[in-house]
Amino acid sequence: MTSKNLVKVLEESLQDLRDKGLYNQIDTLDEANGPEISIEGKKVINLSSNNYLGFATDPDLIAAANKATEEYGVGAGAVRTINGTLKIHNELEATLAKFKKTEATIAFQSGFNSNMGAIPAVMTKKDAILSDELNHASIIDGCRLSGAKIIRVKHQDMEDLRAKAKEAVESGLYEKIMYITDGVFSMDGDVAKLDQSIDICEEFDIITYVDDAHGSGVMGKGAGTVKHFGLSDRVDIQMGTLSKGLGVVGGYVAGKQVLIDWLKVRGRPFLFSTSLTPGAAAAAKAGVEKLMTSDEPVTKLWDNADYLKQGLVNLGFNIGHSESPITPCIVGDENLTQQFSTRLREEGVYAKSIVFPTVPRGTGRVRNMPSAAHTKDQLDRALAIYEKVGKELGII
Ligand SMILES: *Cc1c(COP(=O)(O)O)cnc(C)c1O
Repeated sequence: MTSKNLVKVLEESLQDLRDKGLYNQIDTLDEANGPEISIEGKKVINLSSNNYLGFATDPDLIAAANKATEEYGVGAGAVRTINGTLKIHNELEATLAKFKKTEATIAFQSGFNSNMGAIPAVMTKKDAILSDELNHASIIDGCRLSGAKIIRVKHQDMEDLRAKAKEAVESGLYEKIMYITDGVFSMDGDVAKLDQSIDICEEFDIITYVDDAHGSGVMGKGAGTVKHFGLSDRVDIQMGTLSKGLGVVGGYVAGKQVLIDWLKVRGRPFLFSTSLTPGAAAAAKAGVEKLMTSDEPVTKLWDNADYLKQGLVNLGFNIGHSESPITPCIVGDENLTQQFSTRLREEGVYAKSIVFPTVPRGTGRVRNMPSAAHTKDQLDRALAIYEKVGKELGII
């Protein structure tokens, strides 16, 4: 007999979430996650996907995936360290290293896995990690798994970083100290102040780790936030995703050869979980090659992002302090935010509401993710719907 207690506890926990309005109903897309999507037969303009460059449905990437699938099969057959390393994996890593201008890279099955693999491989319970308080869940989990002392740093607060870095170094308690931050923060779209934080870290000889999930394919002509600031040879560990800007799935870590050699023997998801499918590896490689040969996808993304942002500001919306394509429309009140998102969707715009506890209380927002694949017409239609619903609900 299965456990009655488990069912009871889970049912109560789910009810609790529903009572608090925190239960997330998952929508299913009828077709590809493109600039317009269909949900339950209804077409809506999609402003919720991380598919920044539209690469998820790019014909060149699809062709590369199909070709590699024919050549290598649908699965890699093993973990990388047994015999699941196919030529296409090595080719992807070599291409990524060229793109990132680092000595080497290592590919993981996801961005999440990259953090879960790399952080505990480098940091131990003898160490300390200075972590921005708004860092992504996968960073938090990777840090916890490492056993290192986690020191939360106030969001983007350089005074706080300096004080805590100094204190950690002077305490003499730790073998190594790392500073870890998102390159682009996903809720406000603000960009990490790497120009300042890296100086502070160098002053105290602190290891630097940038998670560039939302910067890959977006910042620095696609090569990321570290490249954007011209810091490629001053950041120890750059993590990126193949799932957002590159539209496929997977993640990677870029850095010195010695770091990558170490991760290949100590990055647990690399050692104990089957490697990327050949199709995904080939599609991601084709995506990186596209970015290396043409500025067009990234330029188009920023054009569209600027257009949408300006349009929303002109209508009177508060888009906070976004510095990236991630564009929040800050509403404030939680219930009004939910209502706003629901009405937008009824009128034809799919933009998700984000409320407490994901963001601080009273800062509920609808988050927009424009992409290179949107047409001006789609953005104009979206803005017209924003105007209509915003006025209707008294937000503008
Ligand atoms: C999305 C995200 C990840 C996880 O990436 P996946 O490739 O989706 O697993 C890691 N870090 C940050 C900051 C992210 O936004």
